[in-house]
Amino acid sequence: MSRYPEAVDVAIVGSGPTGAAYARILSEEAPGATIALFEVGPTVSDPPGAHVKNIEDPAARADAQERSEGPGAGADTVSSPGAVKAGQRRARPGTYLLEEGFQEPGEDGMPVVAFSSNVGGMGAHWTGACPRPGDSERIAFLPDLDALLDEADRLLGVTTDAFDGAPFTALVRERLAAAVDDGRPAARRVQRMPLAVHRRDDGRLVWSGSDVVFGDATRANERFTLYDDSLVTRVLLEDGRAAGVEVRDRRTGEVHTIRARFVVVAADALRTPQVLWASGIRPAALGRMLNDQTQIVYATRIRDAAAVAAAASEATTAGGFGADEIGADEIGADEVIDGPISERSGVSWVPFTDAVPFHGQVMQLDASPIPLADDDPVVPGSIVGLGLFCAKDLQWDDRVEFRDDERDWYGMPAMRIHYRLTDRDRAAIERAQDEIVALAKAVGDPIGDRPFTMPLGASLHYQGSVRMGETDDGRSVCGPDSEVWEAPGVFVAGNGVIPTATACNPTLTSVALAVKGARRIARELAASGDEVLSFAANQH
Ligand code: FAD
Repeated sequence: MSRYPEAVDVAIVGSGPTGAAYARILSEEAPGATIALFEVGPTVSDPPGAHVKNIEDPAARADAQERSEGPGAGADTVSSPGAVKAGQRRARPGTYLLEEGFQEPGEDGMPVVAFSSNVGGMGAHWTGACPRPGDSERIAFLPDLDALLDEADRLLGVTTDAFDGAPFTALVRERLAAAVDDGRPAARRVQRMPLAVHRRDDGRLVWSGSDVVFGDATRANERFTLYDDSLVTRVLLEDGRAAGVEVRDRRTGEVHTIRARFVVVAADALRTPQVLWASGIRPAALGRMLNDQTQIVYATRIRDAAAVAAAASEATTAGGFGADEIGADEIGADEVIDGPISERSGVSWVPFTDAVPFHGQVMQLDASPIPLADDDPVVPGSIVGLGLFCAKDLQWDDRVEFRDDERDWYGMPAMRIHYRLTDRDRAAIERAQDEIVALAKAVGDPIGDRPFTMPLGASLHYQGSVRMGETDDGRSVCGPDSEVWEAPGVFVAGNGVIPTATACNPTLTSVALAVKGARRIARELAASGDEVLSFAANQH
Protein backbone atom coordinates (compact mmCIF):
# COMPACT_ATOMS: atom_id res chain seq x y z
CA MET A 1 0.00 0.00 0.00
CA SER A 2 1.21 3.52 -0.80
CA ARG A 3 2.32 5.73 2.08
CA TYR A 4 1.34 8.81 0.02
CA PRO A 5 -2.00 10.62 -0.21
CA GLU A 6 -3.90 10.59 -3.49
CA ALA A 7 -4.16 14.36 -3.59
CA VAL A 8 -3.01 17.48 -1.77
CA ASP A 9 -3.43 21.20 -2.31
CA VAL A 10 0.33 21.87 -2.51
CA ALA A 11 3.18 19.44 -3.31
CA ILE A 12 6.69 20.65 -2.44
CA VAL A 13 9.77 18.99 -3.94
CA GLY A 14 12.88 19.26 -1.74
CA SER A 15 13.28 19.96 1.99
CA GLY A 16 16.15 22.47 2.04
CA PRO A 17 15.63 25.95 3.50
CA THR A 18 13.57 27.15 0.51
CA GLY A 19 11.18 24.16 0.37
CA ALA A 20 10.82 24.50 4.15
CA ALA A 21 10.04 28.22 3.76
CA TYR A 22 7.07 27.36 1.51
CA ALA A 23 5.82 24.85 4.09
CA ARG A 24 6.16 27.40 6.91
CA ILE A 25 4.47 30.34 5.19
CA LEU A 26 1.62 28.12 3.90
CA SER A 27 1.16 26.65 7.39
CA GLU A 28 0.91 30.18 8.79
CA GLU A 29 -1.12 31.81 6.04
CA ALA A 30 -3.18 28.97 4.49
CA PRO A 31 -3.85 26.73 7.51
CA GLY A 32 -6.65 24.84 5.71
CA ALA A 33 -4.42 23.63 2.87
CA THR A 34 -3.03 20.10 2.71
CA ILE A 35 0.68 20.07 1.98
CA ALA A 36 2.98 17.16 1.13
CA LEU A 37 6.75 17.67 0.96
CA PHE A 38 8.78 15.04 -0.92
CA GLU A 39 12.52 14.68 -0.23
CA VAL A 40 14.70 12.20 -2.11
CA GLY A 41 17.16 11.79 0.77
CA PRO A 42 16.78 10.22 4.22
CA THR A 43 16.04 11.93 7.54
CA VAL A 44 19.43 12.30 9.24
CA SER A 45 18.71 14.54 12.21
CA ASP A 46 16.07 15.29 14.83
CA PRO A 47 13.93 17.35 14.50
CA PRO A 48 13.89 16.57 10.78
CA GLY A 49 16.07 19.05 8.88
CA ALA A 50 18.17 20.03 11.91
CA HIS A 51 21.77 21.06 11.26
CA VAL A 52 24.12 18.12 11.73
CA LYS A 53 26.58 20.32 13.63
CA ASN A 54 24.04 20.30 16.47
CA ILE A 55 24.57 16.52 16.84
CA GLU A 56 26.94 16.31 19.79
CA ASP A 57 28.27 12.77 19.32
CA PRO A 58 31.03 12.91 16.63
CA ALA A 59 30.30 9.38 15.34
CA ALA A 60 26.56 10.10 15.02
CA ARG A 61 27.38 13.39 13.30
CA ALA A 62 29.72 11.68 10.81
CA ASP A 63 27.03 9.09 10.11
CA ALA A 64 24.44 11.83 9.44
CA GLN A 65 26.88 13.52 7.07
CA GLU A 66 27.60 10.30 5.20
CA ARG A 67 23.89 9.50 4.84
CA SER A 68 23.44 12.93 3.18
CA GLU A 69 25.97 12.13 0.48
CA GLY A 70 23.75 10.11 -1.87
CA PRO A 71 25.90 8.39 -4.52
CA GLY A 72 29.06 9.88 -2.95
CA ALA A 73 28.58 8.25 0.48
CA GLY A 74 31.83 6.76 1.68
CA ALA A 75 34.09 8.89 -0.56
CA ASP A 76 36.87 10.92 1.07
CA THR A 77 35.70 14.40 2.04
CA VAL A 78 37.59 17.54 2.91
CA SER A 79 36.50 19.62 5.85
CA SER A 80 37.11 23.06 4.42
CA PRO A 81 37.65 24.70 1.06
CA GLY A 82 40.95 26.02 2.38
CA ALA A 83 42.23 22.48 2.36
CA VAL A 84 41.38 21.92 -1.28
CA LYS A 85 44.53 21.94 -3.35
CA ALA A 86 44.23 22.71 -7.04
CA GLY A 87 43.36 19.61 -8.99
CA GLN A 88 41.90 17.70 -6.05
CA ARG A 89 38.24 16.80 -6.41
CA ARG A 90 36.86 16.25 -2.94
CA ALA A 91 33.45 17.09 -1.51
CA ARG A 92 32.77 18.73 1.84
CA PRO A 93 31.21 16.47 4.51
CA GLY A 94 27.47 16.06 3.88
CA THR A 95 27.86 16.79 0.15
CA TYR A 96 28.83 14.83 -2.95
CA LEU A 97 30.27 15.81 -6.32
CA LEU A 98 28.92 15.36 -9.83
CA GLU A 99 30.69 12.24 -11.10
CA GLU A 100 30.54 13.07 -14.80
CA GLY A 101 29.63 16.09 -16.87
CA PHE A 102 31.23 18.71 -14.62
CA GLN A 103 33.63 19.98 -17.32
CA GLU A 104 33.33 19.89 -21.10
CA PRO A 105 36.47 19.88 -23.28
CA GLY A 106 38.03 23.33 -23.64
CA GLU A 107 35.83 24.84 -20.90
CA ASP A 108 36.49 25.75 -17.26
CA GLY A 109 33.55 23.70 -16.00
CA MET A 110 32.70 23.38 -12.31
CA PRO A 111 35.04 20.64 -11.07
CA VAL A 112 33.70 20.63 -7.52
CA VAL A 113 30.01 21.30 -8.12
CA ALA A 114 28.21 19.60 -5.20
CA PHE A 115 24.84 18.45 -3.86
CA SER A 116 23.29 17.21 -0.61
CA SER A 117 20.50 14.60 -0.52
CA ASN A 118 18.90 14.54 2.92
CA VAL A 119 16.04 16.08 4.82
CA GLY A 120 17.23 19.68 5.23
CA GLY A 121 19.37 19.61 2.06
CA MET A 122 22.56 21.66 2.19
CA GLY A 123 20.90 23.62 4.96
CA ALA A 124 21.80 20.77 7.33
CA HIS A 125 25.50 21.35 6.54
CA TRP A 126 25.87 25.06 5.80
CA THR A 127 27.80 27.78 7.64
CA GLY A 128 24.74 29.97 8.03
CA ALA A 129 26.16 33.27 6.76
CA CYS A 130 23.14 35.41 5.85
CA PRO A 131 24.33 38.75 4.46
CA ARG A 132 21.93 40.99 2.55
CA PRO A 133 22.53 41.70 -1.12
CA GLY A 134 23.59 45.28 -1.98
CA ASP A 135 23.82 47.56 -5.03
CA SER A 136 23.68 45.50 -8.26
CA GLU A 137 23.23 42.26 -6.30
CA ARG A 138 19.68 43.36 -5.51
CA ILE A 139 16.68 42.45 -7.66
CA ALA A 140 15.65 45.90 -8.84
CA PHE A 141 12.13 44.92 -9.93
CA LEU A 142 11.11 43.70 -6.46
CA PRO A 143 10.00 46.77 -4.47
CA ASP A 144 9.23 44.57 -1.44
CA LEU A 145 12.68 42.96 -1.29
CA ASP A 146 13.67 44.43 2.10
CA ALA A 147 10.43 43.33 3.78
CA LEU A 148 10.92 39.84 2.30
CA LEU A 149 14.51 39.73 3.58
CA ASP A 150 13.19 40.66 7.04
CA GLU A 151 10.86 37.65 6.82
CA ALA A 152 13.74 35.45 5.70
CA ASP A 153 15.72 36.61 8.77
CA ARG A 154 12.76 35.53 10.92
CA LEU A 155 12.41 32.13 9.25
CA LEU A 156 16.15 31.35 9.39
CA GLY A 157 16.60 32.68 12.93
CA VAL A 158 19.36 35.10 11.95
CA THR A 159 21.35 36.81 14.72
CA THR A 160 24.44 39.00 14.80
CA ASP A 161 25.63 38.56 18.38
CA ALA A 162 26.29 34.82 18.76
CA PHE A 163 30.08 35.28 18.62
CA ASP A 164 30.43 38.57 20.42
CA GLY A 165 32.50 36.87 23.11
CA ALA A 166 35.15 35.64 20.67
CA PRO A 167 38.58 37.18 21.22
CA PHE A 168 39.82 39.90 18.87
CA THR A 169 36.59 40.22 16.80
CA ALA A 170 36.21 43.91 17.57
CA LEU A 171 39.87 44.45 16.74
CA VAL A 172 39.56 42.61 13.42
CA ARG A 173 36.54 44.69 12.45
CA GLU A 174 38.26 47.92 13.52
CA ARG A 175 41.27 47.18 11.33
CA LEU A 176 39.15 46.09 8.35
CA ALA A 177 36.92 49.15 8.73
CA ALA A 178 39.91 51.49 8.71
CA ALA A 179 40.93 49.94 5.39
CA VAL A 180 37.58 49.89 3.55
CA ASP A 181 34.78 51.91 5.19
CA ASP A 182 35.65 55.33 3.83
CA GLY A 183 32.80 56.59 1.62
CA ARG A 184 30.49 53.62 2.23
CA PRO A 185 26.90 54.04 3.48
CA ALA A 186 26.34 52.64 6.99
CA ALA A 187 24.62 49.45 5.76
CA ARG A 188 27.62 48.52 3.59
CA ARG A 189 30.39 49.11 6.12
CA VAL A 190 32.37 46.36 7.83
CA GLN A 191 30.17 44.68 10.45
CA ARG A 192 29.34 41.45 12.22
CA MET A 193 28.28 38.72 9.78
CA PRO A 194 24.55 37.99 10.21
CA LEU A 195 24.42 34.25 10.96
CA ALA A 196 21.64 31.67 11.22
CA VAL A 197 22.94 30.71 14.65
CA HIS A 198 21.55 31.33 18.11
CA ARG A 199 22.66 30.60 21.63
CA ARG A 200 20.38 28.41 23.73
CA ASP A 201 19.51 29.31 27.31
CA ASP A 202 22.15 26.81 28.47
CA GLY A 203 24.77 28.70 26.45
CA ARG A 204 25.22 26.18 23.63
CA LEU A 205 25.27 27.38 20.06
CA VAL A 206 22.55 26.05 17.75
CA TRP A 207 22.86 26.25 13.97
CA SER A 208 19.65 26.79 12.02
CA GLY A 209 18.67 24.14 9.52
CA SER A 210 15.34 23.50 7.84
CA ASP A 211 13.97 22.53 11.28
CA VAL A 212 14.16 26.18 12.31
CA VAL A 213 12.58 27.28 9.03
CA PHE A 214 9.73 24.74 9.40
CA GLY A 215 9.24 25.95 12.98
CA ASP A 216 6.48 24.82 15.30
CA ALA A 217 3.87 26.27 12.92
CA THR A 218 4.69 23.60 10.33
CA ARG A 219 5.34 20.77 12.81
CA ALA A 220 1.97 21.41 14.49
CA ASN A 221 0.13 21.59 11.15
CA GLU A 222 -1.79 18.31 10.89
CA ARG A 223 -2.31 18.92 7.18
CA PHE A 224 1.44 18.98 6.51
CA THR A 225 3.41 15.76 5.92
CA LEU A 226 7.06 15.28 5.01
CA TYR A 227 7.89 12.14 3.01
CA ASP A 228 11.60 11.30 2.95
CA ASP A 229 13.28 8.79 0.58
CA SER A 230 10.87 10.02 -2.09
CA LEU A 231 12.16 11.05 -5.54
CA VAL A 232 9.91 13.31 -7.58
CA THR A 233 10.51 12.13 -11.13
CA ARG A 234 8.28 14.70 -12.80
CA VAL A 235 5.66 17.37 -12.37
CA LEU A 236 2.31 16.48 -13.96
CA LEU A 237 0.49 19.07 -16.04
CA GLU A 238 -3.10 19.19 -17.30
CA ASP A 239 -3.95 21.74 -19.97
CA GLY A 240 -0.52 23.23 -19.28
CA ARG A 241 -1.27 23.79 -15.56
CA ALA A 242 0.12 22.07 -12.47
CA ALA A 243 -1.84 18.90 -11.74
CA GLY A 244 0.43 16.86 -9.46
CA VAL A 245 3.70 14.98 -9.17
CA GLU A 246 5.00 11.53 -9.97
CA VAL A 247 6.98 10.11 -7.06
CA ARG A 248 9.25 7.08 -6.81
CA ASP A 249 9.22 5.63 -3.30
CA ARG A 250 12.90 4.81 -2.79
CA ARG A 251 11.96 2.29 -0.07
CA THR A 252 9.87 0.12 -2.39
CA GLY A 253 10.82 1.29 -5.88
CA GLU A 254 7.14 1.84 -6.65
CA VAL A 255 6.00 4.85 -8.62
CA HIS A 256 2.93 6.82 -7.50
CA THR A 257 0.93 9.75 -8.74
CA ILE A 258 -0.17 12.45 -6.30
CA ARG A 259 -2.55 15.08 -7.57
CA ALA A 260 -1.84 18.66 -6.51
CA ARG A 261 -3.23 22.07 -7.37
CA PHE A 262 0.16 23.75 -6.88
CA VAL A 263 3.65 22.25 -7.20
CA VAL A 264 6.76 23.93 -5.76
CA VAL A 265 10.09 22.62 -7.08
CA ALA A 266 12.79 23.49 -4.51
CA ALA A 267 15.28 20.80 -5.48
CA ASP A 268 18.49 22.97 -5.59
CA ALA A 269 19.87 25.06 -8.46
CA LEU A 270 20.79 22.04 -10.60
CA ARG A 271 18.05 19.56 -9.79
CA THR A 272 15.15 22.05 -10.01
CA PRO A 273 15.79 22.54 -13.74
CA GLN A 274 16.33 18.75 -13.97
CA VAL A 275 12.81 18.07 -12.63
CA LEU A 276 11.34 20.68 -14.99
CA TRP A 277 13.24 19.17 -17.95
CA ALA A 278 12.03 15.68 -17.02
CA SER A 279 8.47 17.06 -16.94
CA GLY A 280 8.69 18.48 -20.45
CA ILE A 281 8.77 22.06 -19.10
CA ARG A 282 11.67 23.34 -21.19
CA PRO A 283 11.67 27.14 -21.61
CA ALA A 284 14.64 28.60 -23.52
CA ALA A 285 16.19 30.00 -20.32
CA LEU A 286 16.03 26.69 -18.41
CA GLY A 287 19.45 25.90 -16.94
CA ARG A 288 21.05 28.99 -18.51
CA MET A 289 22.88 31.97 -16.97
CA LEU A 290 24.24 29.46 -14.46
CA ASN A 291 26.69 31.13 -12.12
CA ASP A 292 28.95 30.28 -9.23
CA GLN A 293 30.99 32.69 -7.12
CA THR A 294 34.72 32.24 -7.57
CA GLN A 295 36.24 32.18 -4.11
CA ILE A 296 39.69 33.50 -3.13
CA VAL A 297 41.07 32.59 0.29
CA TYR A 298 44.01 33.82 2.33
CA ALA A 299 45.08 33.94 5.97
CA THR A 300 46.71 36.50 8.17
CA ARG A 301 47.94 36.74 11.74
CA ILE A 302 46.74 39.58 13.91
CA ARG A 303 49.53 42.03 14.58
CA ASP A 304 50.41 42.50 18.25
CA ALA A 305 47.96 39.76 19.27
CA ALA A 306 49.83 38.80 22.43
CA ALA A 307 49.77 42.36 23.75
CA VAL A 308 46.10 42.81 22.90
CA ALA A 309 45.29 39.42 24.50
CA ALA A 310 47.08 40.40 27.70
CA ALA A 311 45.07 43.61 27.89
CA ALA A 312 41.86 41.72 27.08
CA SER A 313 42.42 39.06 29.75
CA GLU A 314 42.62 41.81 32.37
CA ALA A 315 39.37 43.27 31.10
CA THR A 316 37.55 39.95 30.59
CA THR A 317 34.06 40.04 31.98
CA ALA A 318 31.96 37.09 33.09
CA GLY A 319 30.54 35.16 30.15
CA GLY A 320 33.13 36.37 27.67
CA PHE A 321 35.93 34.31 26.20
CA GLY A 322 39.13 35.87 27.42
CA ALA A 323 42.36 34.55 25.97
CA ASP A 324 43.11 32.70 29.24
CA GLU A 325 39.91 30.66 29.06
CA ILE A 326 40.52 29.17 25.67
CA GLY A 327 40.82 25.41 25.65
CA ALA A 328 42.93 23.16 23.51
CA ASP A 329 40.31 21.65 21.22
CA GLU A 330 41.35 23.32 18.02
CA ILE A 331 39.53 23.19 14.76
CA GLY A 332 41.47 21.57 11.95
CA ALA A 333 44.66 23.25 10.90
CA ASP A 334 43.32 23.33 7.36
CA GLU A 335 40.35 25.41 8.30
CA VAL A 336 40.42 28.68 6.42
CA ILE A 337 36.93 29.89 5.81
CA ASP A 338 33.31 28.77 5.79
CA GLY A 339 34.03 25.58 7.71
CA PRO A 340 32.94 24.61 11.21
CA ILE A 341 32.73 27.63 13.46
CA SER A 342 34.11 27.17 16.93
CA GLU A 343 32.96 29.17 19.88
CA ARG A 344 35.92 31.43 19.36
CA SER A 345 35.46 32.11 15.69
CA GLY A 346 34.18 35.62 15.27
CA VAL A 347 32.87 36.15 11.75
CA SER A 348 33.05 39.58 10.15
CA TRP A 349 31.51 40.82 6.92
CA VAL A 350 32.97 43.13 4.30
CA PRO A 351 29.87 43.87 2.18
CA PHE A 352 29.78 43.90 -1.62
CA THR A 353 29.48 47.29 -3.30
CA ASP A 354 29.50 48.12 -7.01
CA ALA A 355 32.76 50.01 -6.44
CA VAL A 356 34.45 47.06 -4.69
CA PRO A 357 32.45 44.15 -6.09
CA PHE A 358 33.50 41.37 -3.71
CA HIS A 359 31.75 39.79 -0.76
CA GLY A 360 34.15 39.35 2.16
CA GLN A 361 33.78 36.72 4.87
CA VAL A 362 36.44 37.00 7.55
CA MET A 363 36.68 34.33 10.22
CA GLN A 364 38.96 33.87 13.16
CA LEU A 365 40.68 30.51 13.53
CA ASP A 366 42.40 28.74 16.36
CA ALA A 367 45.18 27.33 14.28
CA SER A 368 47.29 28.45 11.37
CA PRO A 369 46.39 26.97 7.99
CA ILE A 370 50.11 26.36 7.41
CA PRO A 371 52.63 25.25 10.04
CA LEU A 372 54.37 28.01 11.95
CA ALA A 373 57.72 27.68 13.73
CA ASP A 374 57.66 25.51 16.89
CA ASP A 375 58.86 28.38 19.06
CA ASP A 376 56.11 30.61 17.73
CA PRO A 377 52.93 29.67 19.66
CA VAL A 378 49.62 30.88 18.25
CA VAL A 379 47.45 33.01 20.48
CA PRO A 380 44.00 31.40 19.98
CA GLY A 381 41.75 33.50 17.76
CA SER A 382 44.70 35.43 16.36
CA ILE A 383 44.79 33.65 13.01
CA VAL A 384 42.28 35.12 10.63
CA GLY A 385 40.96 33.42 7.48
CA LEU A 386 39.75 35.72 4.76
CA GLY A 387 37.50 34.75 1.88
CA LEU A 388 36.41 36.94 -1.00
CA PHE A 389 33.62 35.81 -3.32
CA CYS A 390 33.39 37.28 -6.84
CA ALA A 391 30.18 37.94 -8.81
CA LYS A 392 30.14 36.16 -12.19
CA ASP A 393 30.05 37.97 -15.52
CA LEU A 394 26.70 36.37 -16.49
CA GLN A 395 26.64 34.49 -19.81
CA TRP A 396 23.69 32.89 -21.62
CA ASP A 397 25.92 29.98 -22.63
CA ASP A 398 26.94 29.10 -19.06
CA ARG A 399 24.41 26.38 -18.42
CA VAL A 400 23.41 23.00 -17.14
CA GLU A 401 22.05 20.76 -19.90
CA PHE A 402 20.18 17.50 -19.49
CA ARG A 403 20.36 14.33 -21.56
CA ASP A 404 17.28 12.37 -22.55
CA ASP A 405 19.41 9.33 -23.42
CA GLU A 406 21.51 9.17 -20.25
CA ARG A 407 20.44 8.83 -16.61
CA ASP A 408 22.12 9.85 -13.36
CA TRP A 409 22.44 7.68 -10.24
CA TYR A 410 18.81 8.44 -9.28
CA GLY A 411 17.52 7.67 -12.78
CA MET A 412 16.95 11.33 -13.67
CA PRO A 413 18.21 12.96 -16.92
CA ALA A 414 22.03 13.21 -16.68
CA MET A 415 23.63 16.68 -16.35
CA ARG A 416 26.30 18.38 -18.41
CA ILE A 417 27.74 21.63 -17.09
CA HIS A 418 28.96 24.19 -19.65
CA TYR A 419 30.87 26.92 -17.84
CA ARG A 420 33.60 29.41 -18.74
CA LEU A 421 35.25 32.34 -17.05
CA THR A 422 35.30 35.43 -19.27
CA ASP A 423 38.14 37.95 -19.52
CA ARG A 424 36.15 40.16 -17.16
CA ASP A 425 35.92 37.27 -14.68
CA ARG A 426 39.68 36.75 -14.84
CA ALA A 427 40.30 40.47 -14.31
CA ALA A 428 37.90 40.44 -11.33
CA ILE A 429 39.75 37.47 -9.81
CA GLU A 430 43.08 39.30 -10.14
CA ARG A 431 41.58 42.37 -8.51
CA ALA A 432 40.13 40.22 -5.71
CA GLN A 433 43.58 38.75 -5.11
CA ASP A 434 45.04 42.26 -4.68
CA GLU A 435 42.11 43.24 -2.49
CA ILE A 436 42.46 40.22 -0.19
CA VAL A 437 46.19 40.88 0.25
CA ALA A 438 45.34 44.48 1.23
CA LEU A 439 42.75 43.23 3.76
CA ALA A 440 45.17 40.65 5.15
CA LYS A 441 47.83 43.34 5.63
CA ALA A 442 45.32 45.68 7.26
CA VAL A 443 44.56 43.03 9.90
CA GLY A 444 48.04 41.65 10.43
CA ASP A 445 50.88 39.76 8.82
CA PRO A 446 49.76 37.56 5.91
CA ILE A 447 50.51 33.84 6.18
CA GLY A 448 51.76 32.22 2.97
CA ASP A 449 53.08 33.74 -0.23
CA ARG A 450 49.85 34.46 -2.02
CA PRO A 451 46.08 33.93 -1.90
CA PHE A 452 44.56 30.73 -3.22
CA THR A 453 41.77 30.60 -5.81
CA MET A 454 39.39 27.75 -5.13
CA PRO A 455 38.37 25.32 -7.87
CA LEU A 456 35.12 26.40 -9.55
CA GLY A 457 32.00 25.15 -7.82
CA ALA A 458 33.57 25.40 -4.35
CA SER A 459 31.34 28.29 -3.27
CA LEU A 460 28.31 25.92 -3.21
CA HIS A 461 26.32 28.99 -4.30
CA TYR A 462 24.95 28.09 -7.74
CA GLN A 463 22.46 30.53 -9.18
CA GLY A 464 20.55 31.65 -12.26
CA SER A 465 19.39 28.29 -13.65
CA VAL A 466 15.64 28.94 -13.19
CA ARG A 467 15.97 32.70 -13.06
CA MET A 468 13.25 35.14 -12.22
CA GLY A 469 12.30 37.91 -14.66
CA GLU A 470 10.05 40.92 -14.49
CA THR A 471 8.40 39.96 -17.78
CA ASP A 472 8.30 36.83 -19.91
CA ASP A 473 10.95 38.03 -22.34
CA GLY A 474 12.46 34.62 -23.10
CA ARG A 475 15.42 35.26 -20.78
CA SER A 476 13.79 34.00 -17.59
CA VAL A 477 11.99 30.89 -16.36
CA CYS A 478 9.63 32.40 -13.76
CA GLY A 479 7.95 35.67 -12.85
CA PRO A 480 8.39 37.85 -9.72
CA ASP A 481 6.28 35.39 -7.65
CA SER A 482 8.48 32.45 -8.81
CA GLU A 483 5.65 30.93 -10.89
CA VAL A 484 6.97 29.33 -14.07
CA TRP A 485 5.85 31.48 -17.01
CA GLU A 486 4.79 28.56 -19.17
CA ALA A 487 3.32 26.34 -16.46
CA PRO A 488 0.81 28.11 -14.18
CA GLY A 489 0.63 26.59 -10.73
CA VAL A 490 4.26 25.37 -10.90
CA PHE A 491 6.64 27.41 -8.71
CA VAL A 492 10.44 27.19 -8.54
CA ALA A 493 12.56 27.89 -5.46
CA GLY A 494 16.20 28.05 -4.44
CA ASN A 495 19.32 29.93 -5.48
CA GLY A 496 18.61 29.14 -9.13
CA VAL A 497 15.78 31.71 -9.03
CA ILE A 498 18.15 34.64 -8.26
CA PRO A 499 18.57 36.58 -11.50
CA THR A 500 21.37 38.97 -10.52
CA ALA A 501 25.10 38.29 -10.33
CA THR A 502 25.56 38.15 -6.58
CA ALA A 503 28.76 37.70 -4.64
CA CYS A 504 27.14 37.33 -1.23
CA ASN A 505 25.91 34.03 0.22
CA PRO A 506 22.52 33.51 -1.45
CA THR A 507 20.33 31.52 0.95
CA LEU A 508 18.78 34.51 2.75
CA THR A 509 17.77 35.94 -0.63
CA SER A 510 16.32 32.69 -1.95
CA VAL A 511 14.34 32.17 1.25
CA ALA A 512 13.02 35.74 0.82
CA LEU A 513 11.90 34.88 -2.73
CA ALA A 514 10.26 31.70 -1.40
CA VAL A 515 8.25 33.78 1.08
CA LYS A 516 6.88 35.84 -1.81
CA GLY A 517 5.97 32.75 -3.84
CA ALA A 518 4.32 31.03 -0.86
CA ARG A 519 2.20 34.12 -0.16
CA ARG A 520 1.03 34.13 -3.75
CA ILE A 521 -0.11 30.49 -3.39
CA ALA A 522 -1.78 31.30 -0.05
CA ARG A 523 -3.67 34.16 -1.70
CA GLU A 524 -4.82 31.97 -4.57
CA LEU A 525 -5.96 29.27 -2.16
CA ALA A 526 -7.88 31.84 -0.12
CA ALA A 527 -9.45 33.34 -3.25
CA SER A 528 -10.65 29.91 -4.37
CA GLY A 529 -12.32 29.37 -1.02
CA ASP A 530 -13.46 25.97 0.16
CA GLU A 531 -13.54 24.60 -3.33
CA VAL A 532 -9.76 24.47 -3.59
CA LEU A 533 -8.99 23.95 0.07
CA SER A 534 -11.10 20.79 -0.03
CA PHE A 535 -9.41 19.67 -3.25
CA ALA A 536 -7.49 16.99 -1.43
CA ALA A 537 -10.44 15.72 0.57
CA ASN A 538 -12.58 15.44 -2.56
CA GLN A 539 -10.03 13.26 -4.27
CA HIS A 540 -10.25 10.44 -1.75
P1 FAD B 1 19.05 22.52 -0.82
O1 FAD B 1 19.35 22.89 0.58
O2 FAD B 1 20.15 22.06 -1.67
O3 FAD B 1 17.90 21.42 -0.79
C1 FAD B 1 17.38 20.84 -1.96
C2 FAD B 1 16.79 19.50 -1.58
O4 FAD B 1 16.06 18.98 -2.69
C3 FAD B 1 17.84 18.45 -1.23
O5 FAD B 1 17.58 17.94 0.05
C4 FAD B 1 17.66 17.38 -2.31
O6 FAD B 1 17.90 16.08 -1.84
C5 FAD B 1 16.21 17.56 -2.71
N1 FAD B 1 15.90 17.06 -4.06
C6 FAD B 1 16.62 17.25 -5.20
N2 FAD B 1 16.01 16.64 -6.24
C7 FAD B 1 14.89 16.05 -5.75
C8 FAD B 1 13.84 15.28 -6.35
N3 FAD B 1 13.83 15.05 -7.66
N4 FAD B 1 12.86 14.80 -5.55
C9 FAD B 1 12.85 15.05 -4.21
N5 FAD B 1 13.82 15.80 -3.60
C10 FAD B 1 14.82 16.31 -4.36
N6 FAD B 1 24.72 29.38 1.93
C11 FAD B 1 24.67 30.59 2.52
O7 FAD B 1 23.83 31.42 2.15
N7 FAD B 1 25.52 30.90 3.53
C12 FAD B 1 26.49 30.05 3.96
O8 FAD B 1 27.23 30.36 4.90
C13 FAD B 1 26.58 28.78 3.33
N8 FAD B 1 27.53 27.89 3.71
C14 FAD B 1 27.52 26.63 3.20
C15 FAD B 1 28.44 25.70 3.69
C16 FAD B 1 28.36 24.37 3.27
C17 FAD B 1 29.36 23.38 3.80
C18 FAD B 1 27.34 23.97 2.35
C19 FAD B 1 27.21 22.54 1.94
C20 FAD B 1 26.44 24.91 1.83
C21 FAD B 1 26.54 26.24 2.22
N9 FAD B 1 25.65 27.22 1.76
C22 FAD B 1 25.63 28.46 2.31
C23 FAD B 1 24.66 26.92 0.70
C24 FAD B 1 23.27 26.68 1.32
O9 FAD B 1 23.29 25.53 2.10
C25 FAD B 1 22.26 26.57 0.18
O10 FAD B 1 22.22 27.85 -0.45
C26 FAD B 1 20.84 26.24 0.67
O11 FAD B 1 20.80 25.04 1.38
C27 FAD B 1 19.91 26.17 -0.56
O12 FAD B 1 18.63 25.79 -0.13
P2 FAD B 1 17.61 25.05 -1.10
O13 FAD B 1 16.39 24.77 -0.32
O14 FAD B 1 17.43 25.85 -2.33
O15 FAD B 1 18.37 23.75 -1.60
